[in-house]
Amino acid sequence: MKQHTLASSCVFTGVGLHSGKPVEMRLLPAPDDYGIVFQRTDLGEEVFVHATVANVSKTRRSTELAEQGAKVRTAEHLLAALRCLDVDNVLVQLNAAEVPILDGSARPYVKALQECGLTEQKTERRYRVVTRHAEYRDAKSGSSIVVDPCDDLIVDLTIDFKSPMVGRQQAVYDATVDFATQIAPCRTFCFYREVAWLRLFGLIKGGSLDNALVIDDRKKAFLGGKVLQFDNELARHKLLDLLGDFALAGFPIRGRITACKPGHKLNTQALQYFISESIL
Ligand SMILES: [Zn+2]
Repeated sequence: MKQHTLASSCVFTGVGLHSGKPVEMRLLPAPDDYGIVFQRTDLGEEVFVHATVANVSKTRRSTELAEQGAKVRTAEHLLAALRCLDVDNVLVQLNAAEVPILDGSARPYVKALQECGLTEQKTERRYRVVTRHAEYRDAKSGSSIVVDPCDDLIVDLTIDFKSPMVGRQQAVYDATVDFATQIAPCRTFCFYREVAWLRLFGLIKGGSLDNALVIDDRKKAFLGGKVLQFDNELARHKLLDLLGDFALAGFPIRGRITACKPGHKLNTQALQYFISESIL
């Protein structure tokens, strides 16, 4: 398959989930072999941040990239949409440090990308192919990511929260799953009991019931009377996060990924490990 870029450009305005700051984001077509590259237009014409796992700088409640002092926060939902809609090459201009959270899912990105359409380019697409069975585990949390060779990308993900509202859930992504309708609409979530703690650490300043599901275990309900779109929406959102983090591999992945209790830290550390060991 050939590489693809956008057929036209699109623009988003919103706020950053963690910074709370307003941001305008513009997606523009880019040449063959360009990859996914952010440009911090507020910092200057030549300030670029490449979407690669080597640039991961922080993973507390989102994936943050940094290159030569310039940051891009909370890129994961956009990256998942770009990767799963086969956008190989794109320039993402931002006039602030954080990608707009919009409704907390990847649906608005998908809708805009579908409206933009794609252009086929001249160069063949490259892949990262899983070469052998390998495991990356965090003994403390009991979380793990295991990869195995496979002709297609398959992600099998399990979450297990000590919460009566969540518990153990599984979600799968493979060639039969339509990313746009089955994974992209699944929203960010957090627990009501951790909101004060997250605020104390300067996070979720832009968080609201319009862009996150907030789980109240004591009332056994979602704040604001929100209802789930899928029984396992929370596991599907973690799947969306993983797809976004693994887009930092630079190329689409061919292989089977089995993830247990993953998060941004585990995803990006595992990816870095698999690449450094030539497993991917
Ligand atoms: Zn997320």
